[in-house]
Amino acid sequence: MAIASPYDDETFATVPSCTEEDVGEAFRVARQAQPAWAARSFGQRAQVLRRLANLVLDRQNEILDIMQIETAKARATAFEEVADTAIVANYYARRAHHHLAPKRREGAIPGFTRTREFRVPKGVVGFVAPWNYPLSMGITDAIPALMAGNAAVIKPASLTPFTALWAAEMFSEAGLPAGLLHIVTGSGSVVGSAVIDRADFITFTGSTDTGRTVARQCADRLIGCALELGGKNALLILDDAEVEEAVEIAMRGSFANSGQLCISFERIFVPEKLRSEFSAKMAKAADSLSMSTAVGWDGDMGSLISADQLATVTEQVYDAVSKGATVLAGGTPLPDAGPFFFAPTVLTDVTDNMTLYSEETFGPVVSIYSYTDENEAVERINASRYGLNAAVVSGSSSRGAEVAERLDAGTINVNEAYAAAWGSVDAPMGGVKDSGLGRRHGADGIHKYTEPKNIAVQHLLPVSGIPFLSDEQSAKALTLGVKLMSRLPRLGR
Ligand code: NAP
Ligand code: MG
Repeated sequence: MAIASPYDDETFATVPSCTEEDVGEAFRVARQAQPAWAARSFGQRAQVLRRLANLVLDRQNEILDIMQIETAKARATAFEEVADTAIVANYYARRAHHHLAPKRREGAIPGFTRTREFRVPKGVVGFVAPWNYPLSMGITDAIPALMAGNAAVIKPASLTPFTALWAAEMFSEAGLPAGLLHIVTGSGSVVGSAVIDRADFITFTGSTDTGRTVARQCADRLIGCALELGGKNALLILDDAEVEEAVEIAMRGSFANSGQLCISFERIFVPEKLRSEFSAKMAKAADSLSMSTAVGWDGDMGSLISADQLATVTEQVYDAVSKGATVLAGGTPLPDAGPFFFAPTVLTDVTDNMTLYSEETFGPVVSIYSYTDENEAVERINASRYGLNAAVVSGSSSRGAEVAERLDAGTINVNEAYAAAWGSVDAPMGGVKDSGLGRRHGADGIHKYTEPKNIAVQHLLPVSGIPFLSDEQSAKALTLGVKLMSRLPRLGR
């Protein structure tokens, strides 16, 4: 498989197109290696993760170069992935024990039943990853799975295999035992599907359409899956907001990774009284973004990933403009910067007959809508079939937080674009409605890679029928017992 750089659309390397048999072999080896890894202590597994975090930070220039060559993203965006991987590795090294250690639970008969909940690894977890954040969404998700005692088989996006291959090398240098982590390169329909056919759980990040296909395949096998899919994320600016601050947040949230970010903003709701000032300042800020056209720290925004992605974005913008949308900034490809660049674009007068009103664009395109009634703005935001991320900007953080509670999304940031919720890795992150299923980060982000096991040890008094009593007498005694138990204080944790 030839891999081209979006900087110039020239092939710079090739990777094998794995076959179904290759995937089978990866799973065979992974299944063999997994039990010994699961038998290690939390402390031993955590040590590998801590070393991984340090390696990724210390050798960041290698991976920043690779990610830029593969995706032509701005280096600052690539750095977010480096930081993310190290933060998540350190977090689970520190907290996995808390999330997974056996926990005492209330017994069936307090005092006579000693019940404990164990969390055992699923076995081999499969990952099907996207190209937009090849380190964060390809590799970082495997960290809690490994920490929980699983092995992992990762199918990176066809466009970005080298980030995953580099990361596998870092895991190995960090001391991850051989056989536990496999990268299988190749197409989604062959290799992705072969991974789903063999895994004990699937984490998929990508489009909603492919997510449905993946979920159906998982359903046939009765395995669980976590899906992080598309978004049509909104920024809600309240009428007490500082316009400069709102523009800064809107810029960060709309154009990070050239808008190829599942949690980036595609809709901005601004109070009518701030509309003209906000729109003018936003357009000016978008026009002044510089393009990052080569490996290095220069430039604010990078290229789109591919000709396909450029075509989708261009079609959506031209469709909107042809139906009456007004372009406040950008609106066209930037061929002088590179084959797949698109200008940071700010639109207004967008109506529901335009594709980009409701469909995900996944590019550097954001639409401004004005409102006069805050409740109506909340309703319009929630009318989307997606619900991944949202943000609220307010001069009063408590008022912002109150409004945030009314938005239908998995993460909501107050006075920040996306990094506050994303970076709070002790709390769950994911989408509602068509934006997905399941969560990464926090307890949910590691529990999903385990099977709960409930072991209850009965002492002295059996739960089912009391000796020396008839069935009828037992039933009466149990009736009394249940009534009494409802008055007991809660036991255990
Ligand atoms: P995609 O088709 O959903 O691809 C995501 C991953 O799934 C890739 O590894 C892909 O492999 C694999 N795949 C594709 N078809 C599959 C199948 N039938 N069975 C198993 N795996 C399969 O996304 P895309 O084509 O890269 O991007 C298209 C759209 O997806 C974007 O415009 C955007 O809307 C959305 N997207 C969302 C996110 C997010 O973070 N939520 C990330 C990326 C893209 P190949 O690479 O070999 O096709
Ligand atoms: Mg695809």
